[in-house]
Amino acid sequence: LPRKIGGLMDAPLLLTLTVNPNEVARQAYNIETVERLPLEFFHEAEKGSDPKNIARIIETIGDRLEGEKIYLQVGFTHDTSNINVGNLESVYKRLPSMLSKIEEQLHLANLVETVGAGEVAKKVLSTHLMRDLVGNLKAFACQQFRCSRCGSKFRRIPLKGVCTRCGGKISLTVHRGAIEKYLGVAERLVEKYNMGPYHEQRLRLIADEINSLFKEKHMQKQPNLIDFM
Ligand SMILES: [Zn+2]
Repeated sequence: LPRKIGGLMDAPLLLTLTVNPNEVARQAYNIETVERLPLEFFHEAEKGSDPKNIARIIETIGDRLEGEKIYLQVGFTHDTSNINVGNLESVYKRLPSMLSKIEEQLHLANLVETVGAGEVAKKVLSTHLMRDLVGNLKAFACQQFRCSRCGSKFRRIPLKGVCTRCGGKISLTVHRGAIEKYLGVAERLVEKYNMGPYHEQRLRLIADEINSLFKEKHMQKQPNLIDFM
């Protein structure tokens, strides 16, 4: 098991003895407690009704929070011979890189008729990739600096240019690679799924911002006045 929370979401890191239903994640309230789905449910599903509008016909854990029945008679629709049988390792964990995870997800979306792969790509882009890019860009600008010899941290680079404690070299804690990690993937998605001008432009603006932060090597050199004459 990892030592820190985050990153490995599949690992149970916090265990508790008493579960108070009022304190768990809200998604858990959507678990239905019925033993069979009523005919009306299938009729509404056929019409493509909004799930919110037909929530009343199927009781969920959320409906029981106030009552006494919360732990009792929680039904299920599909039986199993052994509750421990199941997928022990998700594909999400098995796939090595973020790119392959996205590719597999989109591949699946392409196969499933009711799922629009373009819509999935758009969501992945706007809720994961864009946020990651922008977040890391901000993290880079607000980052701390670290002495590579003694590990002291600094909010600003000391004026001396070296560690004030031991004279060691100061290094970044957030690197260029961390920001650009998903830029290529994001660009490919926008291109492949033809996401329209909004996403295209937004990504281009982020890319411009990254490029303005990291000038090419020859641009970093302080020019001579004579260069402009
Ligand atoms: Zn130091």
